[in-house]
Amino acid sequence: MKTEESSENEFFDVAVIGAGPAGCMAAIQAGKARKSVVLLERNSEIGKKLLLTGKGRCNVSNSAGVCDLAARFARHGGFYRHAFTRFSSGNLSRFFAASGLSLKTERQGRIFPVTDKASSVNEVLEKEMRAAGVNIYFNTRVISVTKSKGSFKLTVEGIDRDIYARNVIVATGGCSYTGTGSTGDGFLFARSFGHDIEELFPALVPLTVKEEWVKTLQGLTLKNIRIVFECIKKKIVSDIGECMFTHFGISGPLVLDLSGEILPYVIKNGSVNAYIDVKPGLALEQLESKFLKEFVTKGNMDLKNYLGTILPHRLAVIFPEIAGILPGKKLNQITRPERKALAVFLKKLSFTIDGSLPLNRAMVTAGGVSIKQIDAKSMESKKVFGLYFAGEVIAGHAPSGGYNLQQAFSTGYLAGENAALSRAEGEGND
Ligand SMILES: Cc1cc2nc3c(=O)[nH]c(=O)nc-3n(C[C@H](O)[C@H](O)[C@H](O)COP(=O)(O)OP(=O)(O)OC[C@H]3O[C@@H](n4cnc5c(N)ncnc54)[C@H](O)[C@@H]3O)c2cc1C
Repeated sequence: MKTEESSENEFFDVAVIGAGPAGCMAAIQAGKARKSVVLLERNSEIGKKLLLTGKGRCNVSNSAGVCDLAARFARHGGFYRHAFTRFSSGNLSRFFAASGLSLKTERQGRIFPVTDKASSVNEVLEKEMRAAGVNIYFNTRVISVTKSKGSFKLTVEGIDRDIYARNVIVATGGCSYTGTGSTGDGFLFARSFGHDIEELFPALVPLTVKEEWVKTLQGLTLKNIRIVFECIKKKIVSDIGECMFTHFGISGPLVLDLSGEILPYVIKNGSVNAYIDVKPGLALEQLESKFLKEFVTKGNMDLKNYLGTILPHRLAVIFPEIAGILPGKKLNQITRPERKALAVFLKKLSFTIDGSLPLNRAMVTAGGVSIKQIDAKSMESKKVFGLYFAGEVIAGHAPSGGYNLQQAFSTGYLAGENAALSRAEGEGND
């Protein structure tokens, strides 16, 4: 039931800002509850960022259970537990299936649409919004949100009138890949209502490295290596996977996933130490005895050629230099300390992380609206009645694997469902 506040302005039960996955899901839920809903999107289409996800295939969720999903959000996990319970990955799969889009589960529980196309996800979201009677205003950027006498006023660019609403859901995303429309406006709206913003920094982002030799390995990918990050000699995090060398440092799934954990240390201390264990399957002593044996049996071989048999060629070429041993030295001339040093280097190829690519190149913005001031049961602000948050605008991020999109859908669902409950100011959500 749309009512006119004045001939020039429009009044809705719920106004959703941002048509990413969080905003669309919120609008669908509020619309299904038969509320008048408007969705304001600055772009001319919904889900511009979503189209980029999963390399265009959209890793829409993960089949992990609620506890595992929450655990992926580290210290923010407890906050998201209710949202994941209320709208789980199973619920999401059923939502899409009911609208004609089946999902499939791949390795590590990653869920994708069977079409392998992110655009199919957007098509379902738009179809469901239309079915739920949501008014979608494209090319409409919200500039400010204020509240007086129990209703919100949204000042917008793109249409020549203001929008009024009893409830507002801020689903404006983070502030990375700004070309998709997510430029951080939601943080400004939150701040204007007195919300704290947890420090914003890049997550799921490639890291920059100080040492030049790392950059000379540009294009090389090492599989099944262990990477360890340390700060002031204390281990921060370590994991096994795939690392890619680039002209500025390191990237690849392993590095992207750990980046959010280590960057706070880089920000605080200026840099952190990293080392790669090229042979995680062999203990140092095993590697040393392998060298001891083979340096005798293959005594006439050059060190460089020998390393080529156990390492990728590019690494074998620069390895003796890093270890400070002549590459042309015959194996039977290598001294005991040199042999030991080689083994240590293979287990601990060290370099310095001094930063990351900028926030705009991060797949996810870490930090955001503080979870302390949002009710985890409803996504409503604890400071402002009728103000809700959903998706990446809220602090907390997870590694790759579909967790971040599930967070957007789950929090969007909860915010939409609760914003649609008719309440008088002062009454709480159940
Ligand atoms: C390259 C890339 C690949 C990714 N792949 C995956 C993946 O496979 N799986 C996964 O789980 N996550 C992935 N992510 C992360 C995922 O895309 C985000 O977590 C998710 O899009 C967040 O959803 P959201 O709705 O909160 O925000 P967004 O998707 O950022 O949507 C916010 C919307 O708000 C609009 N908006 C902003 N400000 C205003 C305003 N003032 N007025 C009106 N509209 C406004 C924007 O135009 C935008 O449409 C990827 C991210 C990137 C960049």
